[in-house]
Amino acid sequence: MEKHICQLLIDGQTVAGEGAPFEVINPADESVIGEGQQASTGQLDKAVDAARKAFANWRETSESARCTLMHTIADRLETHADELARIIVLEQGKPLVVAKGELQGAVAWTRYNADVKIPVKVFEDNEQKRIEGHRKPLGVVASITPWNWPLMIAIWHIMPALRTGNTVVCKPSGLTPLNTLRLVEIINEVLPAGVVNMVTGEREIGEAISRHKGIDKVIFTGSTPTGQNIMANAASNLKRLTLELGGNDAGIVLPDADIDAIAEAIFNTAFVNMGQTCAALKRLYVHEDLYEALCDKLAELAQAQRVGDGLVEGTTFGPVQNAQQFKLIVDLVEDAKARGGRVLSGGARVFDKGYFYPPTIVADVSNGVRLVDEEQFGPVLPVIRYRDIDEALAMANDCSFGLGGSVWSGDPDAAKSVATRLECGTVWINNHAEVLPHAPFGGCKLSGVGVEFGVEGLLEYTQLQVISMPK
Ligand code: NAD
Repeated sequence: MEKHICQLLIDGQTVAGEGAPFEVINPADESVIGEGQQASTGQLDKAVDAARKAFANWRETSESARCTLMHTIADRLETHADELARIIVLEQGKPLVVAKGELQGAVAWTRYNADVKIPVKVFEDNEQKRIEGHRKPLGVVASITPWNWPLMIAIWHIMPALRTGNTVVCKPSGLTPLNTLRLVEIINEVLPAGVVNMVTGEREIGEAISRHKGIDKVIFTGSTPTGQNIMANAASNLKRLTLELGGNDAGIVLPDADIDAIAEAIFNTAFVNMGQTCAALKRLYVHEDLYEALCDKLAELAQAQRVGDGLVEGTTFGPVQNAQQFKLIVDLVEDAKARGGRVLSGGARVFDKGYFYPPTIVADVSNGVRLVDEEQFGPVLPVIRYRDIDEALAMANDCSFGLGGSVWSGDPDAAKSVATRLECGTVWINNHAEVLPHAPFGGCKLSGVGVEFGVEGLLEYTQLQVISMPK
């Protein structure tokens, strides 16, 4: 198979990196599908300069012109959807149908951001004076993205930045950079040079971004330790930050739930993208009356999956994206087994090549076992038995993360009163992991700072300017 070359895109031009070489691996067969060189810090400076130069004009572009250009980008994404989805499968591993869903999400977010209105707030308006709050762009926004939903998360970062008049330097994960390069190339066919740039690299270039005096904001999606490092480095010029970090979302199944009605949704939201989703359901607390029956149903659904290469028709479950994440999953499941965990499906790698781990349900574990306490970010779900709701809530909230949570019940009012007691940014009832362009999403505790999506998410790319006018 032909190898993709991963370059940088600075000021409308693709250029080779000047730093260390790297390879892109297909997680389904461990073959090398791409190669490139990381950006040097000098190249990062050039990308920031290009974005700064482009900002002068882009910020003056009218709202309607920006809206039209963003819809044109969405049209091009639709035209290139098959090509982009295929690249995502090759480097990320997810089944093709899921990658196509990622493209649909990318288009929906682009169009939402194109159309959303930036409000002018009136704080006072009387015969003497009027005080208005206007939203101004920040300048150069840096986007740093992870490897799980690489294209959609890049869109989540880039589109609100553009809509609010900022210019962008993005840095994808070195594990999945190819789709983002293609995306930035397509965006550059539509926008003026320098408005969206891309550099390659990992920790070193990420730290240079966080420290860079020419960057006004970092929007970051990734792990909590990296987010903490970014926050420390960003202090030098008080960069604005939105940090979407790790999660260990709990779901609580109340005793009145109809397990036939909810089992499939629980399975799908726990194993979406092979469990490699920030807001996937990662710990399931089930009332003892339903425990065995629900465990059996989840195991049945897990065993029905067809594990394989995401490009092969009929595959419903792909590989874990990388060797390090794969090893973490193996370690957590082995540790849970040693601590009395009962494996109801999966529980060991499949195939000799590729990072394949089947969907794994582990019963008879509880808080205090690593698989429950840590973010597994992979295809394994621990199921924990509880007796009363206070006990379930105490276990669910005994966690340093606070991204999402869910309550599963036949009684929406009862579910809502439990929902309000969960310590997290979003609670779904009889659902989990659903993110939408118009509903703000973000975490509390170690899951992050700020929100994305909706008007609230958009405003994080702006500076409030208050204008006080006498009449
Ligand atoms: P990661 O933190 O290892 O890497 C994310 C990105 O940060 C990559 O582009 C990486 O190159 C870069 N990076 C690494 N070190 C850096 C540094 N010191 N400074 C700046 N950038 C640096 O995360 P990952 O393993 O790619 O992604 C998995 C994690 O992301 C999980 O914890 C998951 O929960 C989280 N995540 C959160 C959300 C959310 O919306 N809250 C969404 C997706 C993923």
